[in-house]
Amino acid sequence: MGQAPATERAVAALTRLVRDVPDFPEPGIVFKDITPLLADAEGFATVVEGLAEAGRDASGATVVDKVLGMEARGFIFAAPVALALGVGFVPVRKAGKLPHDTHRVAYSLEYGEAVLEVHQDAVAPGERVLVIDDVLATGGTARATDELVTACGGSTAAFAFLMELGFLDGRQHLGDVPASALLTL
Ligand code: AMP
Repeated sequence: MGQAPATERAVAALTRLVRDVPDFPEPGIVFKDITPLLADAEGFATVVEGLAEAGRDASGATVVDKVLGMEARGFIFAAPVALALGVGFVPVRKAGKLPHDTHRVAYSLEYGEAVLEVHQDAVAPGERVLVIDDVLATGGTARATDELVTACGGSTAAFAFLMELGFLDGRQHLGDVPASALLTL
């Protein structure tokens, strides 16, 4: 028997290796714990390869200039995806962590506000960026990240997530930018 297609293998890895933790970090939230996936070399490699597909065209050529990941779990996937695509990695960080000149954006969370920052020179004008995170929930984090890419003069070519919480309809905040998830819940 041949190997299952890449997307099927990624879905199987996520189903087997992502653990639901109810009522974390607060009552009513079912937290998607990716640590068993990260601890499984084959599962981790499979989902990285699945995410990297969002940065390639049908011929397999890389069509983005940078891969950007959000602190902290986005970093874990975006960095190996950048290496797989042969392009640079850009960290988007929480307020006050980046040492050089930054663009910043404040956005609303369910309770309170969050601030994200990127170095002003991390994305060059005209560059096309693949944005990666583990979970698309309400979409606020992804939309704020897109605003940072725009502030640098670049554009978001695509968003790619491990998992999308479809019932929260976060993709309504992502405009016309293509957004893919390896697994929709
Ligand atoms: P969002 O509501 O789309 O802005 O998601 C906020 C951030 O929290 C994202 O970086 C997600 O990775 C993370 N997140 C949201 N909901 C969950 C969840 N149920 N399990 C794990 N991470 C989550």
